[in-house]
Amino acid sequence: MSNLEQVLRDNLQAVQARIKAACAASGRIADSVQLLAVSKTFSAEDVRQIAACGQRDFGENYIQEGVDKITALQDDLPSLVWHCIGPIQSNKTKLVAEHFDWAHTVDRLKVAQRLNDQRPAHLAPLNVCLQVNIDGGETKSGIAPADVLALAAEVAKLPRLTLRGLMTIPDPVDGFDAQVAVHAKARALFDELKAALNLPQFDTLSMGMTGDLEAAVHAGSTMVRVGTAIFGGRTYAA
Ligand SMILES: *Cc1c(COP(=O)(O)O)cnc(C)c1O
Repeated sequence: MSNLEQVLRDNLQAVQARIKAACAASGRIADSVQLLAVSKTFSAEDVRQIAACGQRDFGENYIQEGVDKITALQDDLPSLVWHCIGPIQSNKTKLVAEHFDWAHTVDRLKVAQRLNDQRPAHLAPLNVCLQVNIDGGETKSGIAPADVLALAAEVAKLPRLTLRGLMTIPDPVDGFDAQVAVHAKARALFDELKAALNLPQFDTLSMGMTGDLEAAVHAGSTMVRVGTAIFGGRTYAA
């Protein structure tokens, strides 16, 4: 095994151990939190290495980059599950509907309708999370918490989508307690919606990243999205 392969393996195991420890510390069962490996800016070969360690779910931010990787790997690794976790403009919905298994960043009915209309008939319904602007950042994407129930009720009616839950990307805050406080708001909203909607498949709260996954797990995340701690630091093309 090359050095790089070994590093990726060790990183993945360390993240799995962090999730396990966070679950234990919060009295949660270990498999109640799924790991989404965020592979944005990394190559299809890097994804292949992590997949070889048993990781199945991968997240991409940039839609065309994600589609390129999905296409490159689909013949060899058809069981990978691909999640779109970046902003979805209306002109990109078709690519998302045709290539991804999940979209975490739906925050407008128009985008949901386009994804529904463009989801190919031979594929299972697209799994969707609604992105909520949980900490009220003015410039951020995500629907306001007060508006999420109305959007959820509309999205739940779309037959080619399966509404799975909520997703948040709060601004970084320092300290475990402050992180937990923000994530706990998202968990409370998730529980409220789950009770109001009564949809059995509404089971996913996508929150927590490399810097705050312990706090997110403590607050009740069911899926953490981790990039840096698995693949290393990212460099963006200028
Ligand atoms: C990049 C990204 C992540 C992963 O962030 P890390 O800090 O590298 O773990 C998670 N979620 C979203 C939406 C991202 O864009």
